[in-house]
Amino acid sequence: MTSENITAGRSTFFDTKIEFLKGVGPQKAALLNEELGIFTFADLIQHYPFRHEDRTVFHQIASLNEQMPAAHIKGRLREKVLTGEGGKKRLIAYFTDGTGLMELVWFQGIPWFEKNLRPNAEYIVYGKPVYFGGRWSITHPEIDLLTPENEQAGYWQPIYPLTEKLRRKFVDSRALSRYIRTLLDIALPHIRETLPDTLIKKFRLISKGDALRNFHLPQNAQWLHQAQRRLKFEELFYNQFRLIKNKLLHKTEYPGLVFNEVHLVKEFYEKYLPFSLTGAQVRVLQEIHADLKTGKQMNRLLQGDVGSGKTIVGFITMLFALDNHAQACLMAPTEILADQHYQGLKHFADLLGINIGKLTGSTKKKDREVIHRQLLDGSMQIIVGTHALIEDIVQFQNLGLCIIDEQHRFGVAQRARLWAKNPRINPHMLVMTATPIPRTLAMTLYGDLDISAIDELPAGRKPIKTVHRYDAHRASVFGFMKDELAKGRQIYIVYPLIEESEKIDLKDLMDGYESISRSFPEVPLSILHGKMKSQDKDYEMRRFVTGETRMMVATTVIEVGVNVPNASVMVIENAERFGLSQLHQLRGRVGRGAEQSYCILMTDYKISKDTKLRIETMCRTNNGFEIAEVDLQLRGPGDMAGTQQSGLVDLLVANLAQDGEILKAARIAAEEILENDPDLIQPVNLPIRQHLANLRKEETNWNRIS
Ligand code: ADP
Ligand code: MG
Repeated sequence: MTSENITAGRSTFFDTKIEFLKGVGPQKAALLNEELGIFTFADLIQHYPFRHEDRTVFHQIASLNEQMPAAHIKGRLREKVLTGEGGKKRLIAYFTDGTGLMELVWFQGIPWFEKNLRPNAEYIVYGKPVYFGGRWSITHPEIDLLTPENEQAGYWQPIYPLTEKLRRKFVDSRALSRYIRTLLDIALPHIRETLPDTLIKKFRLISKGDALRNFHLPQNAQWLHQAQRRLKFEELFYNQFRLIKNKLLHKTEYPGLVFNEVHLVKEFYEKYLPFSLTGAQVRVLQEIHADLKTGKQMNRLLQGDVGSGKTIVGFITMLFALDNHAQACLMAPTEILADQHYQGLKHFADLLGINIGKLTGSTKKKDREVIHRQLLDGSMQIIVGTHALIEDIVQFQNLGLCIIDEQHRFGVAQRARLWAKNPRINPHMLVMTATPIPRTLAMTLYGDLDISAIDELPAGRKPIKTVHRYDAHRASVFGFMKDELAKGRQIYIVYPLIEESEKIDLKDLMDGYESISRSFPEVPLSILHGKMKSQDKDYEMRRFVTGETRMMVATTVIEVGVNVPNASVMVIENAERFGLSQLHQLRGRVGRGAEQSYCILMTDYKISKDTKLRIETMCRTNNGFEIAEVDLQLRGPGDMAGTQQSGLVDLLVANLAQDGEILKAARIAAEEILENDPDLIQPVNLPIRQHLANLRKEETNWNRIS
């Protein structure tokens, strides 16, 4: 059976347009189309809630407390009162359940509630209770007339992703629940199982139909839990299945250039390598070299903490390519970083007589043309650059290796565009992450790559000492800085810079700069921020790099830009405004030389619980992997540095911060099936084939729409 007949054989029930669902109609359908991208029955049933509110019990007014996120109360409405003027105008309805009296308050939609709320009728209300002036109140509660059905209580209200516009038009979570209930009543016979029986039995999963029903309309807490577990497993299983399949495909189907010769590599090792490699660097190079000899395309991720020495590994990998008459490219996320890589590599390239170039958005047209020509005729062997490298006009004579140094993740699609730059044989690919990421994230983001890790810092590095100081102790911090300067060290002082409040931030930075100039009148300073012209930035940076200036007052621009071994102190102002991985990245700017380095995190006395945890974590450990785990728990996968641009973390049900165990099980299951039945021929695996075909079809439809 081909994928066409599988798709053709699929029931068309789920392709039905949403406007044909009872109770929806053309107007609401248009809203659902526009606001949520819900066009068909399939879209609606897959519009999953992101949490569920517990409506299983009724609370009593007498026993409310302020810690409750929400109260669910059955009672009787008393009188309504309209009070206040203008913006303060509000409708108050008094409400009692026999144990106490409370206020329900509306600032918006007053006319509607005034007209429709019926004094003396019984209602159920739901919302966040607040105690003020000796009385409980709920502002903008959900409110429903008591009916025999809802009097039973005992339900979980799913909360769906919505937009403001939908809410204004009264399409809220409960309206969606109603639509979905109507749909589920007729859909059940059409729902196909998407997992093989073997997996369902092995992992004791409930069926797809039961899972969908109980995720949208849970019977009780146990069923809700089972529904989530089943849908998470399915989602992660297919995520891993496709990644692993892709990886196997590359391993088995795509030939790779064979790199056997090692002249330049030898010469570099013997004559120019400025230090001896760490054990971890040697091991990783062996892993890479083994890939390069197999005749299969390499797709490898190189993880390593800040300062662990990934660049030199990348450079030696390039030499393997050059030794075998292939070209190499290195792509960096920012112009500054591309520049730094270029400067660093050019030094070695010159020693070895290698022609290396740099291509970024600001490369002049004239130079650009020369580079394009030299890459095409093969006379330029290494090119370092930014996204500019991806452009179609950049063509190579024989591109053999692409290295991507990531700050944020380049998508799979971008990787594929680099592959395509050698139409005969896909170039080998080495992805270096600037930020270590937790295992679960690595498995989903890079599940199609082999993974190497540099888990050892070069010898002689002293771990950076990190401390937390309050703003009030600035005088003693300044004292410490003076001592370090007296020893000949250099210092960074970093201020936050966030787009929305750029003006305030710039002022903070300038105030800081002035206060430092006053306190350190003899010390030459550099200043660096995003608003400066790039020549000025370069000028200031260069002065600091050469030691002409001793302190660098900067915004996060320096995060990726500078490598100054003599800088041994990093002071981070308003540390509460930085994410964990960003703090770790910044700290990584020091500790690059042989001296003891320090990181000082400055904050106000008042800090939140999360900030406290971030700062404690920073003070406790220098290990980037450990820090990444805490970051994942704190922020959730969507916001992690390094993943913002990834489309892959849009998992609908699973949460990588919590579902590591399910992910591991799903990955192993996917690996086993691909190993035993790679073409999915066995009847038991038919659901996988069908579901993959449906996923593909949905993606095609989606591409057409968006
Ligand atoms: P990252 O992994 O953060 O990219 P780099 O490659 O920039 O780290 O290396 C950080 C610094 O450590 C550089 O100055 C580099 O020259 C130096 N370095 C790299 N490997 C070693 C080593 N084996 N011994 C000593 N210094 C090293
Ligand atoms: Mg680096």
